[in-house]
Amino acid sequence: MNLSRKEMLRLIGTGAGAVALGSAAASPAAGAEARGGGDIVRDVAVIGGGAAGTYAAIRLRELGQSVVVVERNGRLGGHTQTYTDPATGGTLDIGVVVWHDQPLVRQWFERFDIPLQKASFSAGQTLYADYRTGREVPGYTPPNPGAALALYGEQLARFPYLEYGFELPDPVPADLLLPFGDFVRKHGLDEVVPTVVQFGQGLGDLLRQPTLYVMKNFGSDILRNLQTGFLSTSRRNNSELYEKALTELGDDVLLNSRVVSTDRDGGRDAAVRVDTPAGPRTIRARKVLVTIPPLLGNLDGFDLDGLERNLFGQFRNSAYYTGVLRNSGLPDNLSVRNVGLDTPFNTPQLPGVYVISPTGLPGLHNVKFGSPVALSDRAVQNEIRASVLRLGEAGTVPTMSPDFATFASHTPFELTVPAAAVRAGFYRRLGTLQGRNRTYYSGAAFHTHDSSLIWQFTETLLPRVAAS
Ligand SMILES: Cc1cc2nc3c(=O)[nH]c(=O)nc-3n(C[C@H](O)[C@H](O)[C@H](O)COP(=O)(O)OP(=O)(O)OC[C@H]3O[C@@H](n4cnc5c(N)ncnc54)[C@H](O)[C@@H]3O)c2cc1C
Repeated sequence: MNLSRKEMLRLIGTGAGAVALGSAAASPAAGAEARGGGDIVRDVAVIGGGAAGTYAAIRLRELGQSVVVVERNGRLGGHTQTYTDPATGGTLDIGVVVWHDQPLVRQWFERFDIPLQKASFSAGQTLYADYRTGREVPGYTPPNPGAALALYGEQLARFPYLEYGFELPDPVPADLLLPFGDFVRKHGLDEVVPTVVQFGQGLGDLLRQPTLYVMKNFGSDILRNLQTGFLSTSRRNNSELYEKALTELGDDVLLNSRVVSTDRDGGRDAAVRVDTPAGPRTIRARKVLVTIPPLLGNLDGFDLDGLERNLFGQFRNSAYYTGVLRNSGLPDNLSVRNVGLDTPFNTPQLPGVYVISPTGLPGLHNVKFGSPVALSDRAVQNEIRASVLRLGEAGTVPTMSPDFATFASHTPFELTVPAAAVRAGFYRRLGTLQGRNRTYYSGAAFHTHDSSLIWQFTETLLPRVAAS
């Protein structure tokens, strides 16, 4: 990796000194009055309470802004998902697992008194099987990525701006628009592919995605953390972060709520009408911060103008699923990773299982499944069951038809546009939306699917939101 830590922090503007997460900051929201007719009056309406929205809400309050978060689920956290085993009380993170070891992340967890430790990935035993047949791939062992990672790091260093949002040069370098498979062949990076695939779960057909998206996801700070170690929570309960944030935000979060309509055009404030379990409410806010996946179907009711509609209408999305299998018959310490027998670089054929892995809890395995397009939960569960059974039928390892202790779709996942759209300036135009129509944006679609990097991106955006 050619970027020094100092250079990287300067680039993203979030050096340790620049981030001062306080736990005792006064909450301006406590003084925010509800206007007549039950209106909720705030400085900022934050739409979505996942990684970006939760971080933004807490930090905006620290910056003296009053906020309200509109979250459609009954909890905060988005892709963070923790399963509690009723038999043992043990917890298991089956969504977000690890974070980058960087000052912002440490301070964020410290703020909520949640201890972190260096992440350790249980050794156990790993089989490499093609889940289409259930057979082990003869002679397959993952290549040692060491030298290839160094070469990949040299490539990354050509595009340092990938570490922050989508501020791409014009013209966008041709290499970033190549399908990643072609980029790998062009630069002799074959041996890096299995590692990139492991980190890029959920990104769809990785070899066909424009290199831009892969390099944003598997970027310089990931390389650094591969060397120095990622962080995980010591208590193996990542949802604790969001439970504590919810407690702190209190009435400033509207759970199980959805935006019915917005009016960002007239008057001094934007009006955001929301259906809540307690009935309809109107939020009057000077600014709106959108952190949900900005797909047209997910922005139903928003008063989108032509440019917003045009840009959001170009996004397509991949699909990602996770679950806990009970009684699969697989040994507790066994991982079975999907490897294509005859696919380029042995990448797993999608839609399909990425990996079934041990959980440390007896009789339970975590399964991860990906698809370039959304599938029904039932179709995914059926395919997972069939995949497990094929391992047994092929004689690879004895299996049984598993139950799902829990299962969740994390779809839509990665939002992308075709290379031609990137070349034509899609992200330059997307960037112009920041601050337009009283609206700001954060979240994975504006950076990449990585909580730590999204927090950094949000941290850099917030002073602008607060000042406007
Ligand atoms: C299985 C899995 C494992 C992962 N592992 C890691 C990991 O180990 N480390 C890591 O850094 N990242 C990991 N990620 C990626 C990480 O979760 C995402 O990058 C991050 O959560 C994205 O944050 P976000 O705020 O953009 O979206 P989200 O966290 O998804 O938040 C969006 C929120 O908006 C809500 N919402 C959506 N639509 C609406 C609507 N219309 N109205 C109101 N609310 C709405 C959602 O319910 C959600 O709470 C993982 C993701 C998955 C699925």
